[in-house]
Amino acid sequence: MSNQFDALRAELTDPRTLCEPGEPGYDEAVRIWNGAITRRPSVVVRCAADLDVAAALRYAQGAGLEVSVRGGGHNYAGFALTDGGLMIDLTPMKSITVDPDARRVRCDGGATWGELDAATQEHGLAVTGGFISHTGVAGLTLGGGIGWLVRAFGLSCQNVVGARVVVADGRVLTASADENSDLFWAIRGGGGNFGVVTEFEFALHPVGPLVQLGLFLFSPDQGAELFRFAREYVRSAPADYGVFLAGLSAPPAPFVPEELHFTPAFGLLVVGLGDADAHGAVIAPITAALQPIVQLVTPIPYVALQQMFDESAPWGLNSYEKAVYVDDLTDGVIDVILEHQPKKIHPLSFVPIFVCGGAYAGADAEATAFGGRPDVGYVINISGSTPDPDGFAAEREWVRNYWSALVPHATGIGSYVNFMPEQDEERVRNAYGDKYARLQAIKATYDPDNVFHLNANIKPA
Ligand SMILES: Cc1cc2nc3c(=O)[nH]c(=O)nc-3n(C[C@H](O)[C@H](O)[C@H](O)COP(=O)(O)OP(=O)(O)OC[C@H]3O[C@@H](n4cnc5c(N)ncnc54)[C@H](O)[C@@H]3O)c2cc1C
Repeated sequence: MSNQFDALRAELTDPRTLCEPGEPGYDEAVRIWNGAITRRPSVVVRCAADLDVAAALRYAQGAGLEVSVRGGGHNYAGFALTDGGLMIDLTPMKSITVDPDARRVRCDGGATWGELDAATQEHGLAVTGGFISHTGVAGLTLGGGIGWLVRAFGLSCQNVVGARVVVADGRVLTASADENSDLFWAIRGGGGNFGVVTEFEFALHPVGPLVQLGLFLFSPDQGAELFRFAREYVRSAPADYGVFLAGLSAPPAPFVPEELHFTPAFGLLVVGLGDADAHGAVIAPITAALQPIVQLVTPIPYVALQQMFDESAPWGLNSYEKAVYVDDLTDGVIDVILEHQPKKIHPLSFVPIFVCGGAYAGADAEATAFGGRPDVGYVINISGSTPDPDGFAAEREWVRNYWSALVPHATGIGSYVNFMPEQDEERVRNAYGDKYARLQAIKATYDPDNVFHLNANIKPA
């Protein structure tokens, strides 16, 4: 039986890569990480090659269908989904090729960080990825990319040395320092605004396979002491050490006494890439100054470190987040954390506080489109989650109130574009500051009709 998508089907590498509701592959493609978002594209193209992406883009524009792009499906706002439009799903595109001599990796646009880490760690190499291994490489990198290695090697996007991009009119372009350098600049921080990235090339660094973890948990009433200590500690921590703070519930992990499971706590985690003695010296001031209620100091495979939080963020949760940049953990910031953290209701809601500095601060801020200033000290992300829709509204309210209280202490109202839960033009403009006008001009060159608008959207000039 013929239907409206036959012409598109005929152009694809395999007609089965196109799925309509009810067809095999559709439900899997539209299931994204955030269970609170359930939009229904009228058609999904599960792309296997650049030509599928190009055909899908041309068809969608001809048919007047809205386009969404799915990498790992992790975006809180659910930008991977369109209601009634055409979804370009890159999940099948997962090829990863490591060149250990050149310390480079080529990675398709549908890979996850778990897949990339596994491939690069076979050679004792890594690039900055996120803290959860089932996040997509593509969305995270295009918006920035903060993880354990950000202080050692900068953001994920600062390690991109080239990319293949299918732009709105279906052309397949190389973006690098030598070719389409404006596009290359824009895709490193400017999000999914400029085209579908079907392949990234990253620079790699020697990491692991074992790294050193120091994990310390504190009771809620130790919060003030912890954060005042941490703000000084972070200043003196070696630049290549990963440092992470959190307001969370103690996990039901073997190293946590059972009576503490799921109870509110604060965390300080310090990861070193060198040997255990060096790490021991770096974490010694923590136990000298504070009495953690739980501590775990151990070598750990880098791939296991990257998966350590995976169970705290399972697929299908109802989730909402808002984030701010702050220059420092001032007394005002600490007061807000201490007031609002105890109001969280569900154990899966948590507040990761990403510590910047190091290579992130030292990178040339003008070299990429990433909006965060190099002197930002921390990204505070308030993430409210419930497994069931019941209680989700209350958790979302907790996020909003917490965030509103932090905003007066924040570095402007701009925020990290990967941590935006909804379209908000003013916040996107502020996220990019002076770079916004340049991004608008590049958007007008590669996507003048704003085909790629389901993202932290940059309006074409
Ligand atoms: C549990 C969890 C943990 C996270 N941890 C971190 C973290 O540690 N560090 C961090 O920096 N961020 C983190 N994030 C935020 C993350 O960077 C964003 O959610 C990002 O959008 C996820 O990318 P994705 O490919 O998985 O998402 P998707 O939902 O698939 O894509 C998001 C958007 O990115 C664009 N996009 C995706 N793939 C492509 C592509 N190939 N070409 C062009 N555009 C594309 C599209 O605009 C798409 O709408 C986390 C998010 C979650 C849910």
